[in-house]
Amino acid sequence: MATEVLKPTIIGSLACQKNSFVKNDFQTVVLRCEPTQKTTLYEVELQDTILFPEGGGQPGDTGFILPAGSVEEIIVSQVARKGLHAVHYVNKFIEPGSKVELQVNWTQRLDYMQQHTGQHLLSAILENEWQLDTLSWSMGGTPSDKKPNVEPSDLFNYVEIGRNLSDEEIIELSDLCNEYITTKAQAIEVDQQGSEDCDSEKGVMRTVRIGELDANPCCGTHLQSTSQIGSILISPFQNKVRGKNSKLYFMCGSRVLKYARFSHSITSRAKTLLSCTEAEVPQKIEFQRIASQKISKREQYWVKEFASSNLVSIIQAVELRKKGHLAVDEFGTLDVLAHIQKGLNLEIEKRQIQDYNIVLCGREKATNSGAILILSNSGTEIVSTASEISGLVQKLKGGGGKNGGKWQGKVIEYGELEWDLMVQFLSESF
Ligand SMILES: [Zn+2]
Repeated sequence: MATEVLKPTIIGSLACQKNSFVKNDFQTVVLRCEPTQKTTLYEVELQDTILFPEGGGQPGDTGFILPAGSVEEIIVSQVARKGLHAVHYVNKFIEPGSKVELQVNWTQRLDYMQQHTGQHLLSAILENEWQLDTLSWSMGGTPSDKKPNVEPSDLFNYVEIGRNLSDEEIIELSDLCNEYITTKAQAIEVDQQGSEDCDSEKGVMRTVRIGELDANPCCGTHLQSTSQIGSILISPFQNKVRGKNSKLYFMCGSRVLKYARFSHSITSRAKTLLSCTEAEVPQKIEFQRIASQKISKREQYWVKEFASSNLVSIIQAVELRKKGHLAVDEFGTLDVLAHIQKGLNLEIEKRQIQDYNIVLCGREKATNSGAILILSNSGTEIVSTASEISGLVQKLKGGGGKNGGKWQGKVIEYGELEWDLMVQFLSESF
């Protein structure tokens, strides 16, 4: 059988590593297909593959396996490495020995190659011009189970370097990187050493050369020229880590365009909303923040004043008839009623009032919603008052105070005339 003589290609010599621009129509043979612990997932090993298994900071590819003579596309959800072997995870059993064709999710792969190759270029320039080694790097923008939705700011990758860069250095670094992408584009070549240079963990050793700029061992997939990186955006906002070290954030290729589109839409909307120029947006927001703080403080002051100015008449009514009420229209929110309730509780305690039944109701005209509070020493009074008001206001939900204290209700929406009828009822009965 053919499968008995075929040996799997090891990491370092995979077709995706030899030529990272083969996207589809790649023919190979299934050597092994075994079920995993998940019932719907199978582990497949192929004789060779154009789907890159994760490594060197680059995530694994996704793509399709197409069995020969079939129109069926079997989804490859993940490619990982097991020792020196690339393992494909698929949703369907494929008979070992089958001839298959492979297809890479090319948009995703090109994005990964742009970020990965961009990191090589960035690190080479940091080392050559600033003598700053790249201590670690991480690619952003890959959805995870924890965070399935990628936000624009997640598109940033980072390199960790030995110190923070100044704003001027960031500009100089950005200009240099973009020069090597445009007018001074460098060819990228991968030298693969003989199979005798095989590391037991990394596989066949490979050296990635960026023109005269850099030569580094790397197992990832790379672009053919720095021009294919397209563009690099480097953020001046760095994070300090491990003492003096700095995380320098950057993104490359089509991500820069995506991020520019998003930023443009945000700044355009902000400009219109704030009626100002782009440069004035942060200052305008700061003014608005200060102004809204002032307004909020002023509102709190007037709510307190309003509450205390209404306290006297309610308490007088309670001392005369054991009943009292207040209807607050226009801005009668729960917050306003709660302030009045707080003042009433203090007065009731101070004056040692034993029997009382008070209704505070409010309507916010803008939303036609509101709140109702019933305060009484008697649970029976609360239940009976709540039932009478519920008969007048249909969309009222509330509870509490069955043993005396407070009943709190929310009016989702006042029906036509319901407010007027309730106010009339309270004026006559309270
Ligand atoms: Zn690399």
